[in-house]
Amino acid sequence: MSDRYGVFGNPVGHSRSPAIHAAFAAACHQDLVYEAILAPLDGFAASVRAFVEAGGCGANVTLPFKPEACRLATRLTSRARLAGAVNTLSFDGQEWLGDNTDGAGLLRDLAHNLGCPIAGMRVLLLGAGGAARGVLGPLLEAGPRRLVIANRTEARAHELAARMASAGEVSGCSHAQLAGQSFDLLINATSASLAGAPLPLPDGLFASGSLAYDMMYGDGQTPFLRLAGRCGAARLADGLGMLVEQAAEAFCLWRGVRPATAPVLAMLRSAGRDTGGQ
Ligand code: NDP
Repeated sequence: MSDRYGVFGNPVGHSRSPAIHAAFAAACHQDLVYEAILAPLDGFAASVRAFVEAGGCGANVTLPFKPEACRLATRLTSRARLAGAVNTLSFDGQEWLGDNTDGAGLLRDLAHNLGCPIAGMRVLLLGAGGAARGVLGPLLEAGPRRLVIANRTEARAHELAARMASAGEVSGCSHAQLAGQSFDLLINATSASLAGAPLPLPDGLFASGSLAYDMMYGDGQTPFLRLAGRCGAARLADGLGMLVEQAAEAFCLWRGVRPATAPVLAMLRSAGRDTGGQ
């Protein structure tokens, strides 16, 4: 029987993860099945337990269950502990190992696919939710010159900056407090694009040559990328590359082999896309 994997979420029907992992498995000659599993909002733990009892070997976790997966794991990698969120579970007997591959996925997309190394850059991270928490540690590790978190609810930006202080120098602020500053890399980790809402950002944020990155992806340009284009960002990128790269990191953890991501990213781009996270 093939090894079983899956992605748990609610909703999860839009997820591209089954197609991504099927493509990785075919390319790497791995005998596995990977399915999308809709867990009830109050029944995530029971759904995962049933999956493990039925022979599940590993799982991805998407909205809104990443913090709960972090509490359920019996052991955490240091990056998952720092993020307080788990997007990848590996099951080995009684042990449920929780990891977070979002940050590694973002960094690999930036460095490998987009040729944008973080070291020495002035980086702005917009948002202080689960996605921001997942990528902050790896971003700090990559050695930016400055890292600022700006969030609609200012207090959450400060809380997140304080939580990450052990990992490197980072500060928090409101959108309005960004006035007069400019950045080389601007990452949108808010869900504002989901509602089609533009972010209320001051003028002058996009330094010449800057890269604007929206973790969100979908058909057409997101409101953040449209704004960035109008405000002088030199390069625009959506989060589809991050999605594929975080999946490759999880696949590697489970199967011990790193799949090539470029063909899968090209396949998704040509097939058309949906919105969302994992
Ligand atoms: P959360 O709900 O945890 O956080 C949402 C964040 O967005 C908060 O900081 C919130 O601010 C902010 N926000 C929401 N609406 C607005 C608005 N109208 N104006 C300004 N700020 C707003 O979501 P996640 O962090 O889990 O996800 C964020 C995005 O990242 C989603 O679009 C998701 O699809 C994407 N994502 C992509 C991945 C990929 O692989 N490409 C992986 C993971 C996530 P406040 O604190 O004030 O409420």
